[in-house]
Formats: sequence, C-alpha cells, structure tokens
Amino acid sequence: MELKNKSLFKEECYIGGKWIKSINGETIDVDNPATQKTIGKVPKCGKDETRSAIESANLAFKNWKEKTAKERSIVLKKWHDLILKNLDDLAHIMTVEQGKPLAESKGEILMGTTYIEFYAEESKRVYGDIIPDPLPDRRIVVIKQPVGVVGAITPWNFPSTMITRKCAPALGVGCPVVIKPASQTPFSALALAVLAQEAGFPDGVFNVVTGSASEIGKELTENPMVKKISFTGSTEVGKILLKQSSSTVKKVSMELGGHAPFIVFEDANIDEAVSGAMMSKFRNSGQTCICANRIFVHENIYNEFLQKFVQEVSKIKVGNGLETSTNSGPLIDQFSLKKVKDHVNDAVNSGAKIAIGGDVHQLGGNFYQPTVLSNVTTKAKITFEETFGPVAPIYKFKNDEEVINMANDTPFGLASYFYSRDIGRIWKVAEALEYGIVSVNTGLPTKAEIPFGGVKESGLGREGSKYGLEDYLEIKYISMAGI
Ligand code: NAP
Repeated sequence: MELKNKSLFKEECYIGGKWIKSINGETIDVDNPATQKTIGKVPKCGKDETRSAIESANLAFKNWKEKTAKERSIVLKKWHDLILKNLDDLAHIMTVEQGKPLAESKGEILMGTTYIEFYAEESKRVYGDIIPDPLPDRRIVVIKQPVGVVGAITPWNFPSTMITRKCAPALGVGCPVVIKPASQTPFSALALAVLAQEAGFPDGVFNVVTGSASEIGKELTENPMVKKISFTGSTEVGKILLKQSSSTVKKVSMELGGHAPFIVFEDANIDEAVSGAMMSKFRNSGQTCICANRIFVHENIYNEFLQKFVQEVSKIKVGNGLETSTNSGPLIDQFSLKKVKDHVNDAVNSGAKIAIGGDVHQLGGNFYQPTVLSNVTTKAKITFEETFGPVAPIYKFKNDEEVINMANDTPFGLASYFYSRDIGRIWKVAEALEYGIVSVNTGLPTKAEIPFGGVKESGLGREGSKYGLEDYLEIKYISMAGI
C-alpha cells in the first residue's frame, strides 16, 4: 500500500483499546478486486474474541454514557477531522480493497464524515418530555437514555459510510460499538479504528472484530450484553439476524436489499432523467442498495431516452480504480460477476435486446461491461431480483396506474425514483410508491440530514437525520407523585 500514513493499514483487530490477532492465529486473505491479488490478511476471529469485545464495550458503557453530550461530541469531531486529514490514504485503502474509482472512494469517505459532523451536534438535542398528568399531584416525565452496547454488521459496498452512519449516532448518545465489517473490505474499518483511537474514544468504546461472519454474528445477536443490532446487508442475512436477535429481544435496525424502480414519465425533462439514471445505476458499478434496478420509460419517449442513455453509457471508462481516468471499477468478486452474467443471459433468453455491453469486459477478472437492455419483459429474473451490477434493464409503459403497479410489484421497498414536471402527478405517484425513499427529479437522494431506510423486506428503522438517533435510545417514563 502506498500510504503517507502507514499506521492506517492494520492487519489486527481493535478490541478494548488493544490491537490483537485471533486466538487461534487464523487469518483471512483480502484481495484487490481489480487485480485479484491478495493485499493483506486480517484475523479470523470467532465467538471468543467477539465476547471479549462485547465485555470491553459493556465495561466502557458506564463512563461513556455519563459523559455529557458535549464531551462526546468533542471526541466525535476529532475523529471527523482526523478522517479528513487522512482522506487520500483512506481513499487509497478503499479503492484497493473495494475496487471503486478513487474519486468515488473520496466521495464516500467525505459523505461518511457528514454523518459524524451531523451527529456530533444532533446528539446534544436528545430531548425528553413533561406530559400533563390527569391527576393534580402528579407529573409524567419522559427521558431518553442510550440503549447500551451496539453490534454493527456492515457490507463491502460502502466500507466507510456504513460504519460512520451507524457509529456516529450510537457513540454520540453514549453507546459503545462492536463493529463486524465485511470480510472483503475490513481495512477501511480498521483504519477508522486507528483514527478513533487517536481521536480519544476511551478503551472499549470503539471495537472492530474481523472474521467468521456466522460466529461473530451469532455472539453479537445472542449475547444479552448487546442491546441493539444494526445491520446493513442482504435481506437473506438480515432475516437470520432477526431470528437470532429474538432470543434476547434486542432492538434491531435492518438496512437490507433494494430493487429500485426508476420511472420516466412522458412530461419529464429527458436529459435530466438520463443523467439521474446514470448516477443512480452506475455509481459503484451498480453495487449500491439504492441503484436503479428497473427503468420504466413511457412509450412515447422510450426511443429518445434509450438513444441518449446508451450514448452516455458508451462514455463510461472501466478500469482499475487507481487510474485517474477510470470512472467504473470491477465487481467485488467472481460470485457477483456470475450473477450479473446470469441476469443478462436470462433477460436476453426471455426476449430482451442488448443495446450496449452485455458481456464480460476485455480486462477480464471481475470486470463487466456497462450494459443496457431494451424491451425487457416482466418474465426476466432481473425484473424480480436485485442485480448488484452495471446492468440497466429498460421497460416500456403506457400509463401511470400500470407503472405504479409494476414499480410496487416486489417484496422490496428501499429507494424509488421518478421524473416528471407535473405537480399533481408528482404528489400522486410519490404517495403511491411503496418505498422508504422516493426521489423526484434527482438520481442521488442521500445525505446525512435525511431518514434513510426501507419498508417491506428492505428493512426496519432509519439511519441519518434526527430519526436516526431514536434507534439508539430507550424511552423511560418516570412517574412523579406526591407533588
Ligand atoms: P451480506 O452478504 O448480507 O453481508 C453483509 C455483512 O453481513 C457482511 O459483514 C457479512 O460478513 C455479514 N454476514 C454474512 N453472513 C452473516 C451471518 N450469518 N451472520 C452475521 N453476519 C453475516 O451482504 P453484502 O453482499 O455484503 O452486501 C450487499 C447487500 O447489502 C445488498 O443486498 C444490498 O442491497 C445491501 N445493502 C443495503 C443497504 C441499505 O442501506 N439498505 C446499504 C448497502 C447495502 P462477511 O463479509 O464476512 O460474509
């Protein structure tokens, strides 16, 4: 790794303020998805190391929660500033382990810091209530308190932001965290831990455990000292964690899979819709939970949209994210590549036409061509499953009712997009879409100030905004009598 600050590259876990190896000495190789070469190893921890992290966090909870919100905010701000100071190195680590282009890595890390900045302030505003009591000598007092130790399990597609989005509100209100990052991108998480240590989080408040997902996940979900699980990842794993968490009735937040519809109505500004679709579909090579996965275009503007969209897609430069000319990196691994190939082949076999791309990229390895499929039928697998790759299937529709039904015909409900300039239609469609996020005339709705999250099988709870604090707080009612 070519880093200015070499201390950021850690091949150990951070537990109770100490850097440790796994008890049995086992490790996991981490590969660069662009070259498929191993860039380092992290400890393959399991149940025992996880329990030790939970115990350290639980021990640290008492002092951390008793600090004032302002004291905690000062540490969060130091962490924020250190991340910005080390931006170039953190972006390099992310690109090498995740594959996304350097500019996208920097963008993600900057986005991640906005959560820290936001919650360093918002955590000072955890207000209670005094409710008028029907009895004259009594008062109803409501206070909010931190839940306790938080187990945070995060995916590989946003190795930094998924951590700061969970940890900033948790730490801000007084909860210690035990983080289990994705095994494909642990180095970004460990670098954040180096900076958390430097920022001055007390020992045990910030822990990162790498290793066996099922063992770490089981301990985090079943250990009674953990009071809250916050997970971002697939719906399949989310369901396992929900079941496991029920044994100790934990609070849970689940940010799960998506299958976003992107609708272009007849009255839309087509150029803006094309640029929104580019942003929504091809960011991170199509590997985001809010990526447009089904693009519905009104039949009267279908050909114009398709032609302009394909023209933009033809400009994408695929390559190693470390090269400055690259604006689309590889897929994370061969498993993802296989799924993308399968979705494209299946769509073509069920009647779709390849407008551009449609095959593995000449660079080989984990690279796939940015692809647009036209005349996709509702029989294709891609109509029902999240692709998580650079494939844009385009469907034709005739009227509003038909397209709303098609958009809602999925168990997922995370993000949705549509383009229109008719205010009446905008309200009706926004209210009819069964999604946690409805993005009107923009392809990039995320920021720290918004409540991010899904409905249906896309999840439970919200991250970001004032609502994101609630997931780390318990409400306590104090009955005051004898007044
Ligand atoms: P994943 O396979 O569910 O993995 C996510 C995390 O869960 C990783 O840390 C993984 O560890 C861990 N994990 C896997 N099996 C586990 C188990 N049995 N117990 C405990 N932890 C377990 O998902 P992914 O492929 O990394 O991420 C892609 C998915 O995440 C997509 O469906 C995407 O839509 C979703 N996502 C959702 C959001 C959102 O905000 N709603 C944001 C980003 C991504 P290992 O890496 O060690 O296997």
